Amino acid sequence: MEIIPDYIDKTTWNKVLNHIAVSDEPPPYLLIDKEVVKEKSLIIGKGIKRSRVFYAVKANPDKEVLTFMSSLGVGFEIASEGELQILASLGIEPERIITSNPVKTLKFLEQAVSYGIRYFAFDSEPEVEKLAHYAQGSNVYVRLSVPNEGSEWPLSKKFGVELDEAADLLVSAQQKGLNPVGITFHVGSQCNNVYNWNAAIDKAWELWEVTVQKGIPLRILNIGGGYPIRYTKNVVDIATIEKKIDKAISRKFSTDVEVFIEPGRSVIGDAGVFVATVVGKALRGDENWLYIDVGVFNGLMESIGGIKYNYFVGSRSEQKVWTIAGPSCDSFDVIDRDVALPEPEIGNRILIPSSGAYTVSYASEFNGFSIPKTILI
Ligand SMILES: *Cc1c(COP(=O)(O)O)cnc(C)c1O
Repeated sequence: MEIIPDYIDKTTWNKVLNHIAVSDEPPPYLLIDKEVVKEKSLIIGKGIKRSRVFYAVKANPDKEVLTFMSSLGVGFEIASEGELQILASLGIEPERIITSNPVKTLKFLEQAVSYGIRYFAFDSEPEVEKLAHYAQGSNVYVRLSVPNEGSEWPLSKKFGVELDEAADLLVSAQQKGLNPVGITFHVGSQCNNVYNWNAAIDKAWELWEVTVQKGIPLRILNIGGGYPIRYTKNVVDIATIEKKIDKAISRKFSTDVEVFIEPGRSVIGDAGVFVATVVGKALRGDENWLYIDVGVFNGLMESIGGIKYNYFVGSRSEQKVWTIAGPSCDSFDVIDRDVALPEPEIGNRILIPSSGAYTVSYASEFNGFSIPKTILI
């Protein structure tokens, strides 16, 4: 392989190269370094007092990944009956599971309640009614809309309500027999703007005060996910972000507030390395095209939303600038442009770090290309 830049974990890299050398498994596959997952799981939440971590399962719901995380003692945040089924099959207790999807299917709600899950998010009156009907007495928290500026994957448009409506919804939830316990928000995924958390916490505090004045005592502040990982650019580290979050919470909230954190990308993203293969090359006009067997549809979906990956090939040939595309026949299946790489041969491996989150969980078998297997190393 080429000379590896400093930001790539050498231990991970050696494990990856070793796996490729000894494994009979045909690529493409996604390797997940357990040590990185463990490290990240231990770091996250350390800087925030009275916090509990619930891994957002949608980032990577692989069974072995979840089994490993369960052994580390983390909790889980889920949104669907499919995610519940996986956790149930692993015997994970309902006390370790919360659901922060503000709009749930009836089937999921019924199954979640019968499994014993007691924490649910909501952000509309129809959802309050659903919860009141199917999940009487449950602990519920309202999703507040907060700024998502500076997040590479904003989530603010689809969910969240403003202060007045949020307060009304908490009151309504109480009147309908639910147990309003707190507030949640999401600053946007891959959030590089630490001020988003300050703004969100300040806004949550405003709502908290109003709600308490209305006679509803709250106890949980759920700060969602959003911690960033390194793709091609440096990001603020988790300890720095959490220090700011903890400070912002301590400044306003009383010392008995419980904090829930729901990290997805930051737990599993940089533990993953895709191992793919170069399947074709072409010169189109004056553009060099490189075709590989992991593309937009079977793993690298986020590339079309602005996530930029690094690529490594084991070639010592001359550098060229490439347009990199996936294997399918769809012209949407272009992963990246203007990527400088030494020219590989067809059949060579191409490695893509930081690909553990929102890759295989997004993938389809469109056009008959298989979803890469996840393998823990
Ligand atoms: C997706 C999601 C998360 C995880 O977000 P990351 O940016 O991957 O950390 C957390 N909470 C909720 C409600 C989500 O939908």
